[in-house]
Amino acid sequence: MKKGKKLYEGKAKIIYATADKNLVIQYFKDDATAFNNQKKSVIEGKGVLNNRISEHILSNLSQIGIKNHLVKRLNMREQIIKLVEIIPIEFIVRNVATGSITKRLGIEDGTVLKAPLIEYCLKDDKLGDPLISEEHILAFDWATKSEIETVKKMILRINDFMIGMFRGVGIKLIDFKLEFGRLKSNGKNEVILADEISPDTCRLWDVITDKKLDKDRFRKDLGDLIPAYTEVAKRLGILHEQSNLSSVNNITKLSSVKKKNK
Ligand code: 5GP
Repeated sequence: MKKGKKLYEGKAKIIYATADKNLVIQYFKDDATAFNNQKKSVIEGKGVLNNRISEHILSNLSQIGIKNHLVKRLNMREQIIKLVEIIPIEFIVRNVATGSITKRLGIEDGTVLKAPLIEYCLKDDKLGDPLISEEHILAFDWATKSEIETVKKMILRINDFMIGMFRGVGIKLIDFKLEFGRLKSNGKNEVILADEISPDTCRLWDVITDKKLDKDRFRKDLGDLIPAYTEVAKRLGILHEQSNLSSVNNITKLSSVKKKNK
């Protein structure tokens, strides 16, 4: 499918038009950002791994009836996705307290929550994605009551499925961020899962050692981000063949050569 003009560039992805007005191409960049863009870096190969991991999770979710924007992966860095109108809310799901909630509420790091906790943040980088309540969402028409109810049901199913999927490969799903979009079909809006699900958007800890296998390796300067993301992909059975692994390594090497030659 031919790539058209750039429609939108975010921190980790670029969206391109295609000849079909209902479909766009999602390109996974190697850029890593944290703390509202204050910390930035390029981590060679990250986009390739996130593309594969997100494809794996979204196709599995499709199979259990969670409608999402993924049509198919095109190549190492790109996917064809359905064009949706993104709901301007980041839906945060927490199973264990860590990260911002521990600082905000003084909850001890690592506290296992009695039930999954859903938090809403307004998707606005300039404001630092502030925490908002359901009342804010309704007051400012960011989503309707029925959309929120639909999303909440979807979130709990997604969380149950992902906890099991990761637990099966020795990984604890600590928390994650989801985004949803409105898909226009037959004149009606249907809410579907959008964006990506990857170690960039989840906190994933090894079951035995609690080793962090996610973007906290970048946020907290722990290093070895690519080996950690590769470990997640291998455990999920995505990178089982040596050839797949070498492709990621080759991309990583190729990009560093290109960078040196710049
Ligand atoms: P926290 O609120 O503790 O910083 O993040 C909670 C969870 O949501 C973590 O898994 C984190 O990766 C994810 N998350 C929250 N906001 C963002 C964001 O703006 N970008 C990404 N990639 N993940 C986010």
